[in-house]
Amino acid sequence: MLKITDLKVNYGGIEAVKGITFEVPEKSIVTLIGANGAGKSTTLRAISGLVKPGQGNIEFLGEEITGKTPEAIVKRGITLVPEGRKIFPDLTVCENLKIGAYLRKDKLDDDINWVYDLFPRLRERSWQMGGTLSGGEQQMLAVGRALMSRPKVMMMDEPSLGLAPIVVRGIFDIIREINKQGITILLIEQNANMALQTADIGYVMETGRITLTGSGKDLLVNDAVKAAYLGA
Ligand code: ATP
Repeated sequence: MLKITDLKVNYGGIEAVKGITFEVPEKSIVTLIGANGAGKSTTLRAISGLVKPGQGNIEFLGEEITGKTPEAIVKRGITLVPEGRKIFPDLTVCENLKIGAYLRKDKLDDDINWVYDLFPRLRERSWQMGGTLSGGEQQMLAVGRALMSRPKVMMMDEPSLGLAPIVVRGIFDIIREINKQGITILLIEQNANMALQTADIGYVMETGRITLTGSGKDLLVNDAVKAAYLGA
């Protein structure tokens, strides 16, 4: 569904992504894991059109989308839940959700209800200001806002960051549920354990390169992955 070929991204003189090739099959959950600075966020930013690749191809549903604008990429069905949630603190939960649908002109009520069914906590807090939500609720809102664009692929940058383990488990349950409903997931995570337990396919990134590929299950028991990312 999403095919990345020989992608390179530079920031000034620094090569953050050094020619990576990987695929995200339709309806799968794929994770990129790796240490800080490995180039994971940069990869998602390049797919979203937020940074221009220096080289390589990004193909979505058979169409080349490399270098297209972020709006054009969202319209085609790829959305990003950014690191740090980036919700609007002075808007209500409901207003934040509506912003996620800003490129659409059709009726939103059904989709708002769909998001509220996934996150009953957000329905209860529909009129609460985004900035007063807890960290876990803000992450739910960031996911809900991304879903309002009706994505085919939802990319998530560190959804578990700074959240308590029980809240993290809830977020991963929701990722599985969204995937069951037919949405493809590309997830980057420091929490390699949860990510690999959830993912069909995992890619390990180190200093701008993909160094290991496998099923989530296989990578969970891989000695190099255990030593570097699972604290074993
Ligand atoms: P983290 O989990 O810490 O976010 P990451 O794997 O997502 O790490 P990136 O954020 O993609 O890594 O960063 C890859 C490299 O690119 C790092 O060396 C980083 O310092 C550099 N980099 C990222 N953004 C920029 C920027 N806007 N300008 C210059 N260098 C940047």
